[in-house]
Amino acid sequence: MADGRSPAPGWLVDQHGRRKRKLRLSLTDRCNLRCAYCMPQNPVWLPRKDVLDIDELLAVARLFVTELGITHIRLTGGEPTLRGGLDQLVLGLQPLRALGLQRLSMTTNGTRLRPLARLLRESGLDDLNISIDARDPALFRKLTRGSIEPVLDGIAAAKEAGLPFKLNAVVIRDYNDGEIAALADWAFAQQLTLRFIEFMPLDNQQQWSRERVVTEPEILARLSHYALEKIPRSGADPATEYLLDGRHRLGIITTVSNPFCGSCDRVRLTATGEIFPCLFSQKGVSLRDALRRGDNDARLAALIRDAVWHKDRGFAAPGGYVERLVSMHHLGG
Ligand code: SAM
Ligand code: SF4
Repeated sequence: MADGRSPAPGWLVDQHGRRKRKLRLSLTDRCNLRCAYCMPQNPVWLPRKDVLDIDELLAVARLFVTELGITHIRLTGGEPTLRGGLDQLVLGLQPLRALGLQRLSMTTNGTRLRPLARLLRESGLDDLNISIDARDPALFRKLTRGSIEPVLDGIAAAKEAGLPFKLNAVVIRDYNDGEIAALADWAFAQQLTLRFIEFMPLDNQQQWSRERVVTEPEILARLSHYALEKIPRSGADPATEYLLDGRHRLGIITTVSNPFCGSCDRVRLTATGEIFPCLFSQKGVSLRDALRRGDNDARLAALIRDAVWHKDRGFAAPGGYVERLVSMHHLGG
């Protein structure tokens, strides 16, 4: 087992010496959008009994924080706001702050923030990433097969609730690369931070091709009407950050053209409780089965340590399409 290999007890470390601080917790595979780069048009949802329930999610989160030194948790999916009991989960995670949890975040498509933003803020959520790949309604529909209106309303609701957020946009050549400047101009006019994400070779439909990836220099070229200043990289943040015209913050996540695997500090848990040390891992290790057969915390922690210890060095994305037994909406982006 990996126990005893860690440089410090209580840390989660892989064989390449990278300590894990961030846990991505997928709450559901379900979604009310069908983004072409993430979800099949007619997805088959996981049976509910296979998905971790709220008590199980709380138990694993507690284990990751108290036994394994995780300091940041991000709730994701699928669409996490579709998960019943989300506010109860956020509330239930609050005692972990006294035990090492520093930040509790969520990535969302924004469509359900109007009814939920204030409740989530009051329950103790720290911040959000809201995905919006185009400002043009027709283009947004083409990419997500949904309407942009609830997302714009959700963004307004997050602002009103005082819930801090960043905007995320996946860029795909010949889909929304013509929208880069318009999206940036719109975001910056409202003093919002925007991050562009390179299209990763994980889409279930296998539409990915290297030609569709719009790289950092190309994105910057579309923003030449701004004065650009690179911000020195801090910690393990995957985004290269820029200050535009001395005041607007822009991030670019270059998973394909310039991977940041060397400093990766993340581990992922799917909606069904499988540990995926990397987005590109071929298969996961089931924590749910061990949890449901009643393994104690020490055994569960050892299982996680071992799965994470064997994490690959990474750099899978530049190679091309990655075949996995799990798709993005199930694993959690
Ligand atoms: N439903 C939420 C949302 O869309 O923000 C959370 C889950 S989604 C899988 C998390 C993030 O993964 C989103 O920002 C989405 O744009 C991104 N994503 C999904 N498939 C991707 C792909 N093939 N390449 C790059 N990013 C992708
Ligand atoms: Fe749903 Fe998010 Fe995937 Fe889009 S990226 S289909 S919103 S889970």
